Amino acid sequence: MPRENSSASGADLTVGACGRSASAWHFTTASPATPACCPRLRHAARDSGMLPAPRIRGRAETFARHPKLNPAALGSACYFDAWNPAPERLCLEVIGDALATSHGCRALNYRAVEGADDGQVILRDVTTGSMHSVSPSIVINATGAWIDRTNHTLGIHSQFIGGTRGSHLVLDHPALLEQLGGSELFYENDDGRICLLLPWCDRVLLGTTDIRTDDPDAAVCEADEFDYLRSAARQVFPSIEIRPEQVVARFCGVRPLPRSNSGSPGTISRDHACHETPASAGRPYPVFSLVGGKWTTFRAFSEQVADRALAVLGKSRRASSTELPIGGGRDFPPTDDARARRIDDIASRTGLPRETCTHLFARYGTTAGRLAAHIAGAGPAAREPVADYLAGELDYLARHEAVVHLDDLVLRRSHLALFGRLDEASLQKTASIVAAALGWSEETQEAEVARTAALLRERHGIHLRPRN
Ligand SMILES: Cc1cc2nc3c(=O)[nH]c(=O)nc-3n(C[C@H](O)[C@H](O)[C@H](O)COP(=O)(O)OP(=O)(O)OC[C@H]3O[C@@H](n4cnc5c(N)ncnc54)[C@H](O)[C@@H]3O)c2cc1C
Repeated sequence: MPRENSSASGADLTVGACGRSASAWHFTTASPATPACCPRLRHAARDSGMLPAPRIRGRAETFARHPKLNPAALGSACYFDAWNPAPERLCLEVIGDALATSHGCRALNYRAVEGADDGQVILRDVTTGSMHSVSPSIVINATGAWIDRTNHTLGIHSQFIGGTRGSHLVLDHPALLEQLGGSELFYENDDGRICLLLPWCDRVLLGTTDIRTDDPDAAVCEADEFDYLRSAARQVFPSIEIRPEQVVARFCGVRPLPRSNSGSPGTISRDHACHETPASAGRPYPVFSLVGGKWTTFRAFSEQVADRALAVLGKSRRASSTELPIGGGRDFPPTDDARARRIDDIASRTGLPRETCTHLFARYGTTAGRLAAHIAGAGPAAREPVADYLAGELDYLARHEAVVHLDDLVLRRSHLALFGRLDEASLQKTASIVAAALGWSEETQEAEVARTAALLRERHGIHLRPRN
């Protein structure tokens, strides 16, 4: 029962981290190499020889790759790793797979756990205000930084979470992108915090801060974080200026870390844990609270929790996710040639240009065939561009991916907002596509545009260019 969170969009896109280095001017670079997204896949990829071995690059080689690096740098260490450019889409694909394969499974977007009464859990539809109740056998509380708040509504006064917020800036900065040479750069800032510069498609992601916070709803990238991140990047590339207008978006999320008395947020454990609160007299169901966790470990964590939950319910496991491909990774062609043939096939079946099919395949994997068929079957208007998307593509996402608000589509189903692609005209156009798909009235459409523009401005520092 996820309550889609419109304030904390996005997550750190890196997987793996580097250890502290002896000098602030040793760097660790990571090259995106494979769509794999969990340690098990990463290890399998390494063991099978799919990934090159890590290596140290001397000063000359390092500067050949990154000529404008701080001259104090001594060298760099390089390793290859998994990279997930669209974590929100991974989340949707996991939900989509569960709905498609598990009889009786339901996913309710914008439903918040509001309380408990007489053995039932009360859910509020956040968009309409209507209330529902369910009688669970078990509750798995996966509400991240909100876990304790959710537990309180169930009558459990836990203190599991000590969240830290992390902010990122998205830069439209071709010169900096070029200097990264296709690698992510990890480096240690003056204060010991590990920061990162990551090529994110044609943008650069600059992150991240690690600041304790008690209120996940209030977390935004503050002005001092904006300055901190820019000055951290300046230490790496002193001659490259990052001007405010090159920051096309900012976002902030709260890590659901375990409560800790540690003085430095960087030393708080990043491991995950499942806290089990047994059933009690007024609450006939146990509650599992999932503390910590990352994209890199979500599958392993889910398997562990599922096993515990099945044991409590007295049921046995019927399927394993160990080897299960996710969403558009299903039947994914293993070689460049096989991918090219699959794209040719989509183009010839739908009549869409090959270039369009290549884009769709890069974004959606093997689900691209369905999107292409949807676009091809919807008439010429569906092929019109909206920024770097197609109208028919946005229509598909609106109809098939649990979009409720316009910001769901521009922030979490697509990269439209965070890559700084939107202006007033393209936001209006996107809104009209969603309105047609979801049957919005003119009034609702206007309200959605106003809501999204305000959210983009206040939460993400995105000021939409006016229409010409
Ligand atoms: C700054 C930052 C950097 C990160 N870096 C990495 C990284 O490099 N690699 C990596 O693998 N992972 C990284 N992560 C972790 C990853 O993005 C996830 O945040 C983490 O896995 C936690 O996910 P979650 O689903 O438990 O919580 P969340 O993603 O926070 O989801 C919790 C959901 O619960 C909803 N909710 C809250 N209250 C209620 C309620 N009462 N009823 C119903 N729903 C409710 C919220 O709206 C939200 O949608 C990072 C996270 C942050 C914030």
